[in-house]
Amino acid sequence: MAEVNPASLSGGLPEDQAPSSLAMPPRPTEIVLGSGNRPGPSLLNQATDGRVPGVITATTEQLFAMARKSSLWTLSFGLACCAIEMISTYMAHHDFDRFGVVTWPSPRQSDVMIVAGTVVKKMAEPIRLLYEQMPEPKWVIAMGSCATNGGPYYRSYSVVMGVDHIIPVDVYVPGCPPRPEALLYGILKLQEKIMADAGDGNAAASA
Ligand code: SF4
Repeated sequence: MAEVNPASLSGGLPEDQAPSSLAMPPRPTEIVLGSGNRPGPSLLNQATDGRVPGVITATTEQLFAMARKSSLWTLSFGLACCAIEMISTYMAHHDFDRFGVVTWPSPRQSDVMIVAGTVVKKMAEPIRLLYEQMPEPKWVIAMGSCATNGGPYYRSYSVVMGVDHIIPVDVYVPGCPPRPEALLYGILKLQEKIMADAGDGNAAASA
């Protein structure tokens, strides 16, 4: 780039003879930052700040949790009288399917185990085996007093005092037997738990 002649900036006169109004401004002795170009905030930043109406954001964990909680496949097996109430929950009057709950006859594709009935000690190992055959993530609902703590068979020689002695339980549904509405409510609480485990603080999480 061509070098600027200071004389051309002072009307052709040498710098020391130029009028004071044409004198060169003092040269800065240190680096000074100007205002420069300041781009506006990006649409993403505005969206995450909540300044764009109609836009919500969510983490991938929350999106996966929304999909999982809305398509819970329950491993279908029943142990005792509570199973009749569980079966009726799938029927037309209560219609479990409207919450995305589908009964499935294999542990390989199931998300939820509903332990509906008395857990006798002979069934302990098969229940644990079925649970271990389910892929992660997986959840367990203890339906009724028997599955929760032995129920009417408390301290019986042949009954396990709650299925949580064998496998981890996420939701306990009380009753002997619980009504189908109680099991429906248990599924809703499990859905809340799945979303809470994925993290909250976003509108999408509670949708
Ligand atoms: S909780 Fe009551 S209804 Fe359910 S399996 Fe036990 S005895 Fe039967």
